[in-house]
Amino acid sequence: MNSNIRVRLAPSPTGSLHIGTARTGLFNYLFAKKIGGTFVLRIEDTDLERSKPTFEKDILEHLTWLGITWDEGPYRQSERLDIYEKYLIQLFEQGDVYYCFCREEELEIERQEMMTRGIAPKYSGRCRSISSEDARRRITQGELSVIRFKMPETRIIFQDMIRGGVEFDTSLFGDVVIAKNLRIPLYNFAVVVDDFEMNISHVIRGEDHISNTPKQIALQKALGFTTPEYAHLPLILDKNRAKLSKRFNAVSILEYKNTGYLPNALFNFIGLLGWHPSASDTELLTQDQLIAQFDISRVQKAGAIFDIEKLNWMNAHYIKEKTPEELAVFLGSFVPEEWTKHKEKLIRIASLERERMKRLSEFTDLARFFFDMQEYDPQLLVWKTMSSETVASNLRDVADILGVYDGTWGSAALESLIMPLTESRGRGEVLWPLRVALSGQSHSPGPFEIADILGKEDSLVRIASALQKLTQQK
Ligand code: GLU
Repeated sequence: MNSNIRVRLAPSPTGSLHIGTARTGLFNYLFAKKIGGTFVLRIEDTDLERSKPTFEKDILEHLTWLGITWDEGPYRQSERLDIYEKYLIQLFEQGDVYYCFCREEELEIERQEMMTRGIAPKYSGRCRSISSEDARRRITQGELSVIRFKMPETRIIFQDMIRGGVEFDTSLFGDVVIAKNLRIPLYNFAVVVDDFEMNISHVIRGEDHISNTPKQIALQKALGFTTPEYAHLPLILDKNRAKLSKRFNAVSILEYKNTGYLPNALFNFIGLLGWHPSASDTELLTQDQLIAQFDISRVQKAGAIFDIEKLNWMNAHYIKEKTPEELAVFLGSFVPEEWTKHKEKLIRIASLERERMKRLSEFTDLARFFFDMQEYDPQLLVWKTMSSETVASNLRDVADILGVYDGTWGSAALESLIMPLTESRGRGEVLWPLRVALSGQSHSPGPFEIADILGKEDSLVRIASALQKLTQQK
């Protein structure tokens, strides 16, 4: 362990685990694992109205499901109120914060006025001059207030590990609200206290937080804290280069899980949202390879495109890599409950169909005919220009051969039983009608594999029913 390197993921439990949060978590994880650092998980639940325990549960569950594990935490900001209060008192004592009694409507008028005058709106600092005695009296009388930080008017420059030097003019911010009261800290302040108290050495987070960084640095200076290193990860964009949005894309890990993406496929895909490893010409990388090759200085500044086709391709790859037994476990939550009672059968079907799936949710449709034969058009039984009579006679001969066979039922044995017939009748002429009779599908695995899983009785019943269809058709 490299005890000096400490990173954190600080999700707010205001929704299901978002792709963007998962990416931030994963990059922090890769960074920590590579260097032997510690990965801390901190739940930022100070927004009492929007934070919900069910979202926290969802976030922890899906991080774990993805394979993003943490070394410390989860800490909860709601359990650390005494710590924030202590530092707020320090800021009051230093004269760096003050109570502001401006009402929302007044602030709005002020904002509008500034905009009409062509100035970027910011708080005027009107309440700075209220004495602490007056403030205390007004609070005791029940007047509503918030706590504002006296933002120094200066230039703040920090070195971003991805962007290089980043400069902000803090005089544009005005005095920011950092707490509603001593017991309700707000984001910028709570983050600064926690990053310091938790000895965070590197803050790796989304680009949407970049304008918070100078505010946080100003607060660190006021509190006498050291400043961690910063890395702001590029936004995740859809293929039209628009910010990934709920309206057009699935954005929660839950949705991806429910449509049948495997955790290791998502781990690989999300792990590459914003950089390319230099040492490898393939993008298919295991967790260990991603850790070994991760290099934050290779992360790009430009938005990372979320290419769903690439995810589908990766997922298909990882589906093929799973053993049928492993796959059957994942498939358990996608298939009708009844199917899960036939575990062996499910495993055998999984082994046949795993080549044909991009998502696990496609399995049920691919596998349905094994459990439940659907109606199909008898014309489908006809291979090319064959007549129905020849189709029927070929099927009848197959049925006769299978009917008297009493050896072990298995695809290799069935193949050697039936193949001789194809020499006189033609391959497609025998195998196509047989395959359709067994599956009712225009596309499916081969007839011997299907018959193997269906067993002798069911296979013969299906061939008989195909023959009946052909006779009825006349
Ligand atoms: N709670 C913040 C969020 O969910 C994280 C802020 C940070 O990483 O500093 O966006």
